[in-house]
Amino acid sequence: MTDKGLFLDTVSIALNGRVLLALTHHVLPGGVLTVMGPSGSGKSTLLAYIGGFLDPAFQASGRVLADGVDLTVLPAEERHAGILFQDPLLFPHMSVAGNLVFAIPSHVKGKAARLARADAALAGVGLDGMGNRDPDTLSGGQKARVALARVLLSAPRALLLDEPFSKLDQDLRRQMRELVFVRAREAGLPVILVTHDEADAEAALGPVIRIGE
Ligand code: ADP
Ligand code: MG
Repeated sequence: MTDKGLFLDTVSIALNGRVLLALTHHVLPGGVLTVMGPSGSGKSTLLAYIGGFLDPAFQASGRVLADGVDLTVLPAEERHAGILFQDPLLFPHMSVAGNLVFAIPSHVKGKAARLARADAALAGVGLDGMGNRDPDTLSGGQKARVALARVLLSAPRALLLDEPFSKLDQDLRRQMRELVFVRAREAGLPVILVTHDEADAEAALGPVIRIGE
């Protein structure tokens, strides 16, 4: 068996002695695991555990491996989990390009090289030439695309999606889902999508785990 991808190895998370979720699953590079559950079931908690920022109120056990590397022993900043939330969370005091350049790993040297990467990433999400815009002047769908470009530029080991489509209207949702899954597949990223929307789960075309039911 390959160790490429994201392996959730007997992950169990409890709150006040009650187990919220327990699962073992291997997500291959480019594959999508969907975790479904109602509000309050522990979806965001699972992503916080993987990302390394779980609140100490929770008790967690198990391991998370990315390409065979045990993430659970690493601090959040060394795990390199790329997360997209419902809210695009762009920095309002920076241009679109500024938001993107900020995410590029520091080993990419030189202002021109970094800007060129940011421009290419913008083009890759259909926002060619919008680097100088103020994020406040973008539509919700455009902000979501910038957030996607930013997370891809950060060279994550995995992509964690916390209901990122839920604020978009139906047409935009469909486009955005498609874009995220295609880009993740191209980048060979394992994806975990948490959602309470059945249509998200169908579009992901992967296995679905249900929690909190
Ligand atoms: P979901 O994302 O599925 O809506 P969450 O993972 O946010 O659910 O929350 C799971 C449960 O943990 C809920 O009962 C919530 O109230 C509780 N919870 C979330 N964050 C904390 C925290 N920091 N401290 C204590 N309980 C929390
Ligand atoms: Mg949540």
